[in-house]
Amino acid sequence: MLGLGAVAAHACSNLMGLCGTCHDFTLTDPVQCRRLGWIVPHGVAQPLDVPARMVTVNGVGWWYLRDDAGYVWTEEETALAVIRLYGMA
Ligand SMILES: [Zn+2]
Repeated sequence: MLGLGAVAAHACSNLMGLCGTCHDFTLTDPVQCRRLGWIVPHGVAQPLDVPARMVTVNGVGWWYLRDDAGYVWTEEETALAVIRLYGMA
């Protein structure tokens, strides 16, 4: 049985599919990736509560990843305010 931390770590809201180049970017520039919502520091916020800037079939912008594997768009101004709120910018 998975503990609560392991369940959260494997929640869909905590998973992004990235190409190899973008994955490498998360390793070489984590500060910028926090600003994009691609990396959510452990203990700072729940990934469910932080939008990520990404490309989807519905367009490029800021999206909240959901635990049902969907995503919900949000305005850039709102997204950047959330990123600042959690000290990720
Ligand atoms: Zn990419």
